[in-house]
Amino acid sequence: MNLDLRDFRVFPVDLTIESEADAQEYELQGITVRDLMTVKMNIHKVKEEYYCQGMVRLPVEEECSRCLNLFDAELSGDFSFIVKTGSPEVDAATVAEDEMIYINTHEPVIELTDTIRQSLVLAIPMKPLCSEDCRGLCPNCGANLNEETCECRLEDTDERWDGLKDLLE
Ligand SMILES: [Zn+2]
Ligand SMILES: [Zn+2]
Repeated sequence: MNLDLRDFRVFPVDLTIESEADAQEYELQGITVRDLMTVKMNIHKVKEEYYCQGMVRLPVEEECSRCLNLFDAELSGDFSFIVKTGSPEVDAATVAEDEMIYINTHEPVIELTDTIRQSLVLAIPMKPLCSEDCRGLCPNCGANLNEETCECRLEDTDERWDGLKDLLE
């Protein structure tokens, strides 16, 4: 996804881009995209520098790490960078300084895909949950305990005591 800053005559610019997003392009493993990606950006220009702040939202489907059901979720993240133009010899060099990303370029055209990818990948939860109190699957019979109770549950030992059992053995 390219952004050509020469397209804008007047700054600051507020802009919203909606586009199709491909889970593979953005390296979103185990994620299914279910709607358009929305990117919002705010761009200020000071002399030859463009200060860009943005956020991305992507409606997705994740798999619950406890009950393995698919559920609707949204990945969202922020990003910001500064684009410096004016040195004709640089093509596009990216420098990170104090958590600020500088992009030096002679043509103010920015490739946004990498930036967006980083924000989205960071937004993926380590353990997605369909709900905070998802009861998961019975480790014994595999029943989804959100939807049913099973017989074996009663016989299970309380796993909080397992650590103690190990100590005693
Ligand atoms: Zn669940
Ligand atoms: Zn069971």
